Amino acid sequence: MLDTGGLLQDKVVLITGASSGIGAAAAHVFAREGASVVLAARREEQLTTLAAELRDKGFEASAVVCDVTRAEDARRAVAHATERFGRLDGAFNNAGIGGDPSPLHEMGDEVYDAIFDTNVRGVWNCLRAEIGAMLPGGGAIVNNSSVGGLVAIPTAAPYIASKHAVVGLTRAAAEEYARQGVRVNAVAPGPTRSEITVGWFARNPGLEERMEETTAQGRTAAPEEVAEAVAWLLSDRSSYITGTVLPVDGGYLNH
Ligand code: NDP
Repeated sequence: MLDTGGLLQDKVVLITGASSGIGAAAAHVFAREGASVVLAARREEQLTTLAAELRDKGFEASAVVCDVTRAEDARRAVAHATERFGRLDGAFNNAGIGGDPSPLHEMGDEVYDAIFDTNVRGVWNCLRAEIGAMLPGGGAIVNNSSVGGLVAIPTAAPYIASKHAVVGLTRAAAEEYARQGVRVNAVAPGPTRSEITVGWFARNPGLEERMEETTAQGRTAAPEEVAEAVAWLLSDRSSYITGTVLPVDGGYLNH
């Protein structure tokens, strides 16, 4: 492994939802910080292209197709990491979907089911497989919640509820495994430029400007800005932090 002297030197880290947005940015940031990265998502071509790009730069990267809604896929992704790199030290459970803004009473069951299956069951599936692989040695996990996991935003009820559930899973797992050396935290990003938000912005004129106004900094985040915070939470430099939710939100929750 290339010695970058970074935050994650020699760690093996699994990233779900690595095919675009915050997950793809995390792949670059974690690799630069010295990690061997395992990239998981459903779109194989994006994953293999990204893994090849990282290897071309001298980093260690491997891709595994994984639908986080399926427990066996989550187990296979973790097994891929341990078989390819010998162990699992860290995981960023980032895969998630948004859904189009709509009043709660007009939303269909299928929207609720899809969002909960991916955002909650997905984290649940991954946590079980990852913690199993990290014991007894320990490790660090970061789940991607949202500012919507801490406060409400209108016309996104299932998403808000799902991201609150991610906070609950984070706290429950942190409590249960703290004494076995597994730290579990979450990040709560504010509006971040990615496929999810680009789609929303395209379909909802003026939404981007309104979201920018919601942050104290008056702008949306680049995906890398979220990934930087996650790298630190996965590193040994945050060794006394577990069960917490770190807003990465440009001051969204500050006003
Ligand atoms: P993207 O749409 O760019 O990324 C979502 C990722 O999740 C993709 O890589 C997608 O890959 C993957 N994914 C979706 N469903 C599944 C599944 N069933 N199994 C495996 N992978 C899946 O958006 P973001 O980068 O913005 O989203 C990443 C996370 O950040 C999400 O959890 C989102 O809720 C959260 N977040 C985003 C914010 C924002 O403003 N952008 C703000 C707060 C939180 P593929 O389709 O290849 O499977």
